[in-house]
Amino acid sequence: YQAKRTRNDVCLYRHDYEAGYLRRVHIEQRLRGAINQMQITMAYQPQLDTHSRVVGVEALARWNDEELGYVPPNEFVEVAESCGLIAELGNYVLSRSLADFRKLLDQVREPLDLSVNISAMQFMQAGFGYLVLSELKKHGVHPHYLTLEITETVFMSGFDQVIPILEQLRNAGVSLSMDDFGTGYSSLSLLRKLPIDELKIDKSFVDNIIEDESARNMVESIIAIGQNHRMRLVAEGVEERAQFSALVAMGCGRFQGYLFSRPIPVTEVASLVKHFNSGVTT
Ligand code: C2E
Ligand code: MG
Ligand code: MG
Ligand code: MG
Repeated sequence: YQAKRTRNDVCLYRHDYEAGYLRRVHIEQRLRGAINQMQITMAYQPQLDTHSRVVGVEALARWNDEELGYVPPNEFVEVAESCGLIAELGNYVLSRSLADFRKLLDQVREPLDLSVNISAMQFMQAGFGYLVLSELKKHGVHPHYLTLEITETVFMSGFDQVIPILEQLRNAGVSLSMDDFGTGYSSLSLLRKLPIDELKIDKSFVDNIIEDESARNMVESIIAIGQNHRMRLVAEGVEERAQFSALVAMGCGRFQGYLFSRPIPVTEVASLVKHFNSGVTT
């Protein structure tokens, strides 16, 4: 019985492994063309303040491929990282988001800001800091409007190289956000070393904030850390009104989640901002 079970496990493993491997190869084959032909698009998820006013948007990459169908961004970003396409993808995302954002600012005439996710490996790209600043200039967006979201994986990929770039960008007025805060291995030691302006409280904490006392305590601790370091606090994955109220009461200042809006095409953002910011909502 034991032997048989082991053999089945091995078969299952091999089957999954091969399926996963083939999918990666397929994604890799299609991704380069998708980037070059601008088939990757951006969706924007609003960020709201405690009064439910839209104060910013996060740019999220979207890819619907003819052969593969919808490929989630964390999946194709990971493939891009492992096959040397991350610089191309990242530069495309940044440029496209800034172009969209410029148009949006002209439409809404409100002080919105823009958050863009940056993969750790993009910081390894030569001249990345200059690239960001020149893209800002090219699109006529002041650096103060831009927040770059990074994850704790920056720590694993040549830390010494990353810090001067972060400092260069921050000195120019770009804000830095630690995404998915609390889910990595070295959150606290990183905060001491990186010039961080914002913490994003991970959805996994927000999910259980009502029922689960330990999740609630964790969120309280994260908020305390953020407040002690004068950082902006953003809660992600807010789906229920009760979660929003609890987070407001705890001192969180910004909120993102399906309760307010899913990520939407840029063409729909202006009317959504109008809807939330017209003054009727509280
Ligand atoms: P993230 O930066 O933490 O983005 C938040 C994710 O949570 C997004 O998933 C968003 O659609 C989802 N989300 C927001 N509110 C809710 C909610 O209330 N309920 C639920 N169930 N989900 C919610 P998405 O768009 O699939 O992105 C996944 C991850 O892929 C992102 O996590 C980010 O790490 C990465 N990513 C997305 N776009 C880019 C990009 O342009 N560049 C890079 N480097 N990474 C990206
Ligand atoms: Mg993010
Ligand atoms: Mg996040
Ligand atoms: Mg997350």
